[in-house]
Amino acid sequence: MRDMTGKPAVARGEAAFGHRLPDDMLGCDLCPRFCELKPGEKGWCQTRYSKNGRLWAANYNWLSLLQFSPIENVPLAEHANGGAVLQLGSFGCNYVSPGGERERFGAQPGLGRSIKPIDIMNICGNLVQHGCVGAAYTYAEPLLWYEFVMQCCMLLKQGDMQNILATAGFVNPRPLQELLPYLDAVRFDLFAFDPTYYRQEMRVGFDAVLKSLKILVESPVHVEVATPIIFGFNDDPQMIGTVAAYLGKTYSPEIPYHLIAPKRTLSAEQQEKIMSCADAAGRFLHRVYLS
Ligand code: SF4
Repeated sequence: MRDMTGKPAVARGEAAFGHRLPDDMLGCDLCPRFCELKPGEKGWCQTRYSKNGRLWAANYNWLSLLQFSPIENVPLAEHANGGAVLQLGSFGCNYVSPGGERERFGAQPGLGRSIKPIDIMNICGNLVQHGCVGAAYTYAEPLLWYEFVMQCCMLLKQGDMQNILATAGFVNPRPLQELLPYLDAVRFDLFAFDPTYYRQEMRVGFDAVLKSLKILVESPVHVEVATPIIFGFNDDPQMIGTVAAYLGKTYSPEIPYHLIAPKRTLSAEQQEKIMSCADAAGRFLHRVYLS
């Protein structure tokens, strides 16, 4: 909910970017689904729910993933080279994972534990001696963990540490803009340059994704774009060439671009396909990485 000055409230557990509607309904403005919730209902992403006339974040202090790893694993190839980050995430996703079981990726609470933002700050601080430069919010869709991520980002910035975000960008402009001053780098997932693909496979609007990308690329935040390859869905070199052409012509051929292969052994045919996709991207972008 917002306070009287219009600022998002980030009180523990209460969701930011909610507003009241008639008949005891609550509206959520965090992402372009603009869910309208009856008392007791959850939003599409399963992370926000209406209770006692207020909107709450069910994932506020819930940690599903905690992993200390090189920054290359995010992946980021041109930021804080040689550094390491504490990767973390919770549950919650507002799009359908293409090629998966048609389930909302990471939408439901799974295994995990409760944690506070100050704990994240302390863990990062203890890991500085091992090369930790900060936290990377990477699992499921971290922008749906907004309140917790915002509080961690503020704490880490105060401690002169970095905040890195991995997002698919299906979020409204205002929440993203309010997070920007605390971000150092972003991996932005662009699965395709195709509104139909986004609508049919991921069930999200493409315009909102492009708007988020524009906000980030035009900000001082370091941005690397990534296409996670999903065989049978977006592994067509022509399709990847279209993504790269858009990035190169709209922004710059120097924008770092990753093709992320599935983390399993690939067949010779799949490896060849990835190389063809890299060739297609390389026609428009100078810095293409296979991750
Ligand atoms: S963040 Fe969740 S509850 Fe809010 S509009 Fe998006 S899907 Fe709905």
